[in-house]
Amino acid sequence: LRSTARVGDAVIGGRSVAVIAGPCAVEDYEGLLAVARTVKAAGATILRGGAYKPRTSPYSFQGLGREGLRLLAEVGRAVGLPTVSEVVDERSLEEALTYVDMVQVGARNMQNFVLLRAVGRAGKPVLLKRGLAATVDEWLWAAEYIMAEGNRQVVLCERGIRTFEPATRYTLDVSAVPLVRELSHLPVIVDPSHAAGRRQLVAPLARAAVAAGADGLLIEVHHQPERALCDGPQALTPGDFCRLVRELHHIAAALGREVLRGDLGAIA
Ligand code: PEP
Ligand code: MN
Repeated sequence: LRSTARVGDAVIGGRSVAVIAGPCAVEDYEGLLAVARTVKAAGATILRGGAYKPRTSPYSFQGLGREGLRLLAEVGRAVGLPTVSEVVDERSLEEALTYVDMVQVGARNMQNFVLLRAVGRAGKPVLLKRGLAATVDEWLWAAEYIMAEGNRQVVLCERGIRTFEPATRYTLDVSAVPLVRELSHLPVIVDPSHAAGRRQLVAPLARAAVAAGADGLLIEVHHQPERALCDGPQALTPGDFCRLVRELHHIAAALGREVLRGDLGAIA
C-alpha cells in the first residue's frame, strides 16, 4: 500500500500528480501574490517560497527569515493554497510550524540527522530533498530518520545529483523515480528546476518526470525572473508554467493519472 501526504487540501501520492510551484525565495508581498494567483489558476495545489535560503556564498541573498514565512502564509491564505518552505535548523523549524503546512528539508541538509529527527517530531508533512551526492539508499535512510520519530508524512524529492557533467546545474536522476517507487511506499516527486539550472530545460525534464511516474513536481516560477534575487535563470514565467501544466495533463492522462488544470479564466 502506498502512503500519501496531506498538505492542506492537497494530497501527494494519490492518483493526481501534485504540482508545487512558486518562487525560489519569498521577496515581497505583491510579487509573491502575483505568482501565487497565476500558479493556482494554472493548477498548482501547493505554494512554495523559501524564507531560509542555504546559499553557496554567505554574501548572496539569504532569505527574509521569519518575515518571509509570514508573507508566504499570508499569500497562501489570500489565494487559498497550502504552503511549503525550507527549514535549516531547529529554530527555523519552530517558526515554520506556526506559518506553513509542510516543511522542506533541503538537499544540503539531507543528512543533518538532528534536523531530520526534529522534523520527525514536528507533526507536519515533510518534503525531503535528495542530497547533492547522496545515493538512493542514503536518501531512504534519511526518510527513515523522520519516520522513526513517528512522522509517516514524508515525500521524497529528486532534484538532481552531482555528476561529472557541468553542462547542466545537476544531473536529474530520472531512474530514481521508478526505482524509489519500487523500493519504498513513500510518494516521490521531482524538482526539475534545480536540476536544470536554466528555464529552457525545465519543461522537458518535468514532462519526463511525469512520464516516469513521479507523484508530483516542484517548480520554481517567478513573475519577473530577470529580477529574481535567487535562481532567476531557472525560474519559469507564469506563462511558461501554464503551458507546461497543460502538457503534463496529457502525459498524466496517458498513464491513468491526472494533473489538475485549475481555472485560467480566474485570472483572465
Ligand atoms: C530550494 O528548493 O529552493 C532549494 C534550495 O533546493 P535544494 O535544496 O534542492 O538545492
Ligand atoms: Mn531555488
